[in-house]
Amino acid sequence: MISLNEAFRIVESAKVFPEHETISFLNANNRVLAENIFSDLDFPSFDRSAMDGFACKESDIHQTLEIVETIPAGKVPENIITNGKCAKIMTGAMIPEGADCVLMVEFTEMTDHNHVHYLKDKTKKNIRYRAEDLKKGDVVLTKGTILKPAHIAVLASVGAVNINVFKKINVGIISTGDEIVEPENKPELSQIRNSNAYQLMAQVEQCGANAIYIGKAADNESSTYEFIRKAIAASDIILLTGGVSMGEFDHVPGILKKAGFDILFQKIAVQPGKPTTFGIKDNKFVFGLPGNPVSSFIQFELLVRHLIFRMMGHNYQPVILQIPIADDYRRKKAERMSWFPVTINEKGLAVPSEYHGSAHIFALTEANGLTYIDEGKELIQKGDLVNVRLI
Ligand code: AMP
Ligand code: MG
Repeated sequence: MISLNEAFRIVESAKVFPEHETISFLNANNRVLAENIFSDLDFPSFDRSAMDGFACKESDIHQTLEIVETIPAGKVPENIITNGKCAKIMTGAMIPEGADCVLMVEFTEMTDHNHVHYLKDKTKKNIRYRAEDLKKGDVVLTKGTILKPAHIAVLASVGAVNINVFKKINVGIISTGDEIVEPENKPELSQIRNSNAYQLMAQVEQCGANAIYIGKAADNESSTYEFIRKAIAASDIILLTGGVSMGEFDHVPGILKKAGFDILFQKIAVQPGKPTTFGIKDNKFVFGLPGNPVSSFIQFELLVRHLIFRMMGHNYQPVILQIPIADDYRRKKAERMSWFPVTINEKGLAVPSEYHGSAHIFALTEANGLTYIDEGKELIQKGDLVNVRLI
């Protein structure tokens, strides 16, 4: 059995070959940038007023000034400002030649229809100077960035209307188990509804990849083999849930070998999720995830999410906060590292969720983080710092 760290290293050392494509920036939300983006302009591209007010020479602020024109945003000034003159100017408008400051309108008083007087004896410049944010040719976004709304604004501002992004990968999902029925059906006694496949699809889509539900394999070798073959044709990564434990009907690892996968690990010293399996065949990857929904969820977060992002050109770094735990956390057996869901409360403390074990699907609904207790440890004391990975 290997540690979670070793399992992570094995997944991280698998070679991947992300591909790219050109798309419109209009479709770029949540996609991963495959090139650096450079600015085609200085920002700002001209000296602009930061305030509504009067543009003049700073040496003139104690005199009554004659207003020679009004400059709204989007207009090129017509006059040069000389001594004793000013221009009424709006936020974002171009500073006229000759002016070196803008008097805030709040601190001025009109003496007649075209004369103004400043009521204070000092002013700031109130000018945003050309290129003070960045220069033409500067890198504004880097390869590997997941594009969010603020990045879309930058693409628009530098005119990057067609951009190179990494292609989405296809993740095929297979559920296994004779006891599983699809959500629209009412389970009979001894049956349960399929929740894993849909939870996994949502996790995959959250990464910006395509989730494809391949179907539900019965607990026999030929059915499992058939679904794996279908999945290989349709997917870059295959996720199976269930059938990986040591039970009589847990065929998945054997059949993955038969389908040509090299199995790189088949057991991790972690709870929940000990039977998590990982294999490679050519450039395709497979994870056999445990059947219990909480185990499947957690193993996806700890291992699968990283690989999906890496195959799409992004180096995923989970947000990990070191915060105190709200209560004592105890366990009886300490032979494995164990993960559990927590909620960060308004005081910034990690409150362990009510959690009855890996089949307790409702434990995750309020949780916003996952944390762990190390192998060999039976107690985390109230107030001890824990590492919470946000989910
Ligand atoms: P297994 O690894 O196949 O023995 O499954 C472990 C547990 O997870 C069993 O109680 C299964 O009924 C349950 N399980 C397996 N697949 C799913 C699924 N797709 N949705 C919800 N629970 C599942
Ligand atoms: Mg099963």
